Amino acid sequence: MSRFLTVIAVTDAVAVSEKIAPAPKTETVPVDQCASRVLAEDIATDTDIPGFDRSVVDGYAVRAADTTGAGSSSPALLRCVGRVAMGRRDANLAIADTECTYIPTGGFLPAGADAAVMVEYTEAAGDTILIKKPASHGENILLRDEDFQKGATVFHQGRKLTPQDAGVLAACGCAAVPVAQKPVVGIISTGNELVPASVIPEPGQVRDANGPMLAAWLAEYGCIPRLYGIVRDEREAFEQRIAQALSECDVVLLSGGSSKDDRDMTAAVIASNGEVLVHGIAIAPGKPTIIGMIGKKPVFGLPGHPASAFVVIIAIVRPLLDKMLGQKKPRLRAVKATLGVNIPSQRGREEYVRVVVDQGVATPLFGKSGLLNTLVKSDGLIRIPAGYEGLEKGSEVEVILW
Ligand code: AMP
Ligand code: MG
Repeated sequence: MSRFLTVIAVTDAVAVSEKIAPAPKTETVPVDQCASRVLAEDIATDTDIPGFDRSVVDGYAVRAADTTGAGSSSPALLRCVGRVAMGRRDANLAIADTECTYIPTGGFLPAGADAAVMVEYTEAAGDTILIKKPASHGENILLRDEDFQKGATVFHQGRKLTPQDAGVLAACGCAAVPVAQKPVVGIISTGNELVPASVIPEPGQVRDANGPMLAAWLAEYGCIPRLYGIVRDEREAFEQRIAQALSECDVVLLSGGSSKDDRDMTAAVIASNGEVLVHGIAIAPGKPTIIGMIGKKPVFGLPGHPASAFVVIIAIVRPLLDKMLGQKKPRLRAVKATLGVNIPSQRGREEYVRVVVDQGVATPLFGKSGLLNTLVKSDGLIRIPAGYEGLEKGSEVEVILW
């Protein structure tokens, strides 16, 4: 077996994780379904947007110069020469000096006009329109390419799309949006003590918290999780379940059984079917983490303690998922906060501390690593880099929010 618990730095482990990430795969989705997906190509608009000079008010299309000095007691008198209809251009409609046309919001600005006056500032007397407020050149109109210019790149590859982006993509003519395929991630929970959530545990048994927790996190991160249930610490059953998961998934996560213990055979099974690349990371919690490959597929051995497994999926597995998604920025929410107390830390390992954030102050929630409650009582994690002996009260920290 290679490198059994030879602890390596987090940055090195992340580099391995990124290196073994399968290449991103692309698919297209209808534009109304693209939100929260990662854009797979740069997108340019195929037209100018809005596409024609148009009014943003209901009122009159005018020549601004004709309205100079206009007021309620000294209105400019313009002759109305027509009405602009919505949704089409009337090539014959144009205005000359001292003329105007009625125009609705979104109407095509007639030739000769360079501004619009809101109907509220006008009064009609037959064909004569009294304009009671001056308009400046360009007032109340949008130019044909004021929003986006034809051919301009509107979004770059790697962007996590928002609902607003769906609107802009539709305006750009992108009806089918190229996005990264969601990585399919298998999860196997290992341990003789584990039972599913639906079962009342006998003495010594523990409900499988990691399977559902990791699956839920993966779904929220833009992946397709596949749960392969619980397997006992029995080599044959374990190997069979891994083989099944590998045949159906892009990546497989094995929870539990990664530490240096005779029962713990994750590393042995990965080594005999593929290669163990990392066994042991200078991270707390999460030291007994394994990164390996079977065939061309990444396989992670995560620690059994739920809090450790959660930190490891965020710190070590996530960079691989970002690569597979072609995602430039991790989809983690973070806030800046001031540390409320000193936090000691062991130099040489990267430490993730669960904190509560209240009014900009982050306070750690220390708890034994086997406890679940700190995962839900905390708001997120702060990271203490390996080179630090701790962080001082009052220092600014970034909190990765749950
Ligand atoms: P292991 O990594 O298998 O040595 O397990 C470390 C600790 O985490 C033990 O107390 C296990 O019972 C617990 N554990 C392992 N897997 C899970 C799981 N899926 N859900 C909850 N606790 C677990
Ligand atoms: Mg175990």
